[in-house]
Amino acid sequence: MTAQEQDMVARPSALTFDLVARCTTTKARAANLRLPHGQVQLPMFMPVATQASLKGLTPKQLEETSCRLCLNNTYHLGLKPGQKTLDAIGGAHKLQSWPHNILTDSGGFQMVSLLKLAQVTEEGVRFLSPHDGTPMLLTPEHSISLQNSIGSDIMMQLDDVIATTSPDHARIKEAMHRSVRWLDRCIEAHQNPESQNLFCIIQGGLDLDLRRECCREMVARDTPGIAIGGLSGGEAKSEFCKVVDTCTGLLPEHKPRYVMGVGFSEDILVSVALGADMFDCVWPTRTARFGNAITRFGTHNLKNATYAYDFGPVEEGCQCTCCRPPSEGGLGITRAYIHHTAAKETAGAHLLSIHNVHHLLDLMRRAREAIVDQRYPAFLRSYFSGLYAGDKTKYPEWAVEALRGVGVNLLADD
Ligand SMILES: [Zn+2]
Repeated sequence: MTAQEQDMVARPSALTFDLVARCTTTKARAANLRLPHGQVQLPMFMPVATQASLKGLTPKQLEETSCRLCLNNTYHLGLKPGQKTLDAIGGAHKLQSWPHNILTDSGGFQMVSLLKLAQVTEEGVRFLSPHDGTPMLLTPEHSISLQNSIGSDIMMQLDDVIATTSPDHARIKEAMHRSVRWLDRCIEAHQNPESQNLFCIIQGGLDLDLRRECCREMVARDTPGIAIGGLSGGEAKSEFCKVVDTCTGLLPEHKPRYVMGVGFSEDILVSVALGADMFDCVWPTRTARFGNAITRFGTHNLKNATYAYDFGPVEEGCQCTCCRPPSEGGLGITRAYIHHTAAKETAGAHLLSIHNVHHLLDLMRRAREAIVDQRYPAFLRSYFSGLYAGDKTKYPEWAVEALRGVGVNLLADD
């Protein structure tokens, strides 16, 4: 019996993870992840549909970007439409008419970040209702109950999240241990382990010893997938890379690894080289609302006057619905049109969201191909060269260093 089979006997899981290829230089992996609502390919980017809708996009438009796994926020869905409505309609897939996979967060992070008066105790997160100010409590049990009602394919444990930049080491340590205790309560409360996958979340701030201890504790609890949490909160990128690298070194090969809240193209590609598989971020849709187009040659603000008479597509050669010409079934949107609508009409932001989400999904598809073909180091060099117009002096030092650590010299010529 393989280790994977033993795990499946040990604890029910609603996913299968098949490693397709491993980069022989870096720690990058390509895998197939089969979830209750279909198979997805790793590494992958997951767009965030906060209120069961990606800002500005219909589920059909999201599907056309090739997205097969998106995020919903438990906190928002728990408030509106609320658990009763979710139970009545049969979950979030039916609510938004989305036939593909959904991942939900625990709701804890939203509370701590959105509500000023949120307070963490051993019992859970105490907060005042944003509707009427009544005191409320989000416990691990309540978070899991909500996620069971949502019916997400991947659900996240409630964890105690502290900013990595916090100077309070004792509090970071307490939060790590509490997150482990809360995972036990989440596992206990989970009603549907045969149809919904609960992921644990590694905490421990920037303290690598705490991260190592947390990895050991979480891995022993044998959840179907594992997340690395608490990052992307303003810490130095070099510290971020050390945490990801340290954690992936201690995680089992045969489980998906999700680095939460990471979405910049460079951060994702470096994290993939460090052995991570899954990423999410609001960046592609949020930045679209400011008129920013994400391309292979960097992020361009189409509100800039230079685009007023630019009749090329948002990104040359892009196969998204927005950029493809009408003769190929697309909308044939020009930079000039986005320039014209970006500040005035929401349509401009919607079109750019389609492009930006497609761009990141396509970037991951190309990264995966490179891993399978054993040319990921060259892919990284080519990508950074495009992003910085071939000027190696502009490459961020943290990326150069992190990749050097896994055997890639970003500054070498191919
Ligand atoms: Zn496009």
